[in-house]
Amino acid sequence: MRRKLIAANWKLNGSTAMASGLVGDIQDGLAELDNGVEVVIIPPAIYATLVNAALAESETSVGIQDVSRWNKGAYTGEVSAPMAHDVGCRYALVGHSERRELLGETDTLIADKVDNALSASLNVILCVGETEAQREAGAQDRVVGEQLKQGLSRVSDADWLRVVVAYEPVWAIGTGRTATAEDAQSVHAVIRQTLNGMGAPAEEMTLLYGGSVKPDNAKELFAQPDIDGGLIGGASLSAPDFLAICRAA
Ligand code: PEP
Repeated sequence: MRRKLIAANWKLNGSTAMASGLVGDIQDGLAELDNGVEVVIIPPAIYATLVNAALAESETSVGIQDVSRWNKGAYTGEVSAPMAHDVGCRYALVGHSERRELLGETDTLIADKVDNALSASLNVILCVGETEAQREAGAQDRVVGEQLKQGLSRVSDADWLRVVVAYEPVWAIGTGRTATAEDAQSVHAVIRQTLNGMGAPAEEMTLLYGGSVKPDNAKELFAQPDIDGGLIGGASLSAPDFLAICRAA
């Protein structure tokens, strides 16, 4: 039985007051949920300690939105994987499309980050997904396959079950356009096949869908055989919406 996971990506949103309030409301709601879903809150790095403290008594864990390719040294502004682990993070998001697009992150850099995060005992959520032009050209399976092969090229056999893959079609992120459940399922099946071909225990690995997941489309997406949960951006900033999505998992 694969584990079900819902991860909240707050992106560059939040404040001390907002983080405390939202985590409190989410905690209250999750206390009544018993569908076995694992929940991870991924705030901006500066709020990780605060969110971790607020989650202390619960099963919900905290993650970081990115880790540096370096672990320590003269790299001003960077936050390393060992530091994230040290302040209580359990997950690292790596390769989000906003970082690939806006900050020029390459698959080679992403492979370094995956390696650092796993070495620092973090679980990794690797984001993959095609652009609109790639989807229109029918290239989504090839693009996602390459991102997986390169981004996860250095994962050792012992670490596979600490890797989660999030399929996030770029054209669906923050746009209100969601992939149909059938289209999402079709790419998820390719992801599982690709992982299998890489020697990973693909049937046991958790695969997430992300891209404008909302309370009204979550159930149909999560009902697909290869979709084990979601990576939630905009809707994770509203406790009622996020809780409704957790309930749908
Ligand atoms: C994301 O940021 O990973 C995401 C899926 O965003 P949204 O849910 O807002 O599309």
